[in-house]
Amino acid sequence: MRVQGIHHVTAIAGNPQGNLDFYRQALGLRLVKRTVNFDDPGSYHFYFGDDAGAPGTVMTFFAWPAGQRGQGGVGQPAATAFRVPPGSLGYWAERLQGFDVVPSEVTERFGDEVMGFRDPDGLRLELVAGAHGATAVSGVVAGAIAGFHGVTLAEQRIEATGRFLTETFGMEVAGQSGNRARFLASGPLGAAVDLLELPAGTRGRTAVGTVHHVAFRARDEEEQAAWHARLVDLGVHVTQVLDRCYFRSIYFREPGGVLFEIATDAPGFAVDEPASALGGALKLPPWLEGRRAEIEAALPAVR
Ligand code: ZN
Repeated sequence: MRVQGIHHVTAIAGNPQGNLDFYRQALGLRLVKRTVNFDDPGSYHFYFGDDAGAPGTVMTFFAWPAGQRGQGGVGQPAATAFRVPPGSLGYWAERLQGFDVVPSEVTERFGDEVMGFRDPDGLRLELVAGAHGATAVSGVVAGAIAGFHGVTLAEQRIEATGRFLTETFGMEVAGQSGNRARFLASGPLGAAVDLLELPAGTRGRTAVGTVHHVAFRARDEEEQAAWHARLVDLGVHVTQVLDRCYFRSIYFREPGGVLFEIATDAPGFAVDEPASALGGALKLPPWLEGRRAEIEAALPAVR
């Protein structure tokens, strides 16, 4: 069994309106679902992605308007990278500056051009302009994001996590540069997991402006069950299968402490509203519909 790549990345935002505006207007992603955190229905959960919210394109946020800023560190994802067309970083630098975002200088990493920046809550993002070309899947902006390139995980020691990625997830070692090692999954989107070894690093604190978890793809519930069985065999504390409406999920921590999820491709975001109207209405799972009035009254208004 080989993992195909990232399904979605979930991070924590502060102001929900600022989050909606940045990911839709600045990054040109589509809001494909507006719902609440199923484990905490008093806060929004926004999903952004390509037009359909295809696995491998979906960045999601819990919005904690009164939440404290988190702290980056080891045991946490250090950056989430989107793939953009070759030669588009100049366009993106100018575009981001128009949204009061100051991007980093363009650097080279494993043959790709990379530009880093932070979202309005301080979340570290990267744009990767690959040498291999990228087919734009969203027509919103000229340099359109084509889904995830991958994630970088900060680790005190990378050995145990590296072994987990190769031996359990079936990823391939794709390169080593300084304290960064790259592992690749089999799929076309979100295949890269970079491990950054920071021996003197202090542990991060997950809150506003940090990633909450990284979800990897399972084709179907059968494959997810096989992953679950393999993790149990390895003695990993993994949750039971949870119904997230748009996918089924299991969660566990990788050896370095980052929260991982394995999520099914199906049923997807068109399960409870038409594909043409994704993100238009506040959607609640069936078990929270009875509390809709109370939940809506408690949520901050957004446009
Ligand atoms: Zn998730």
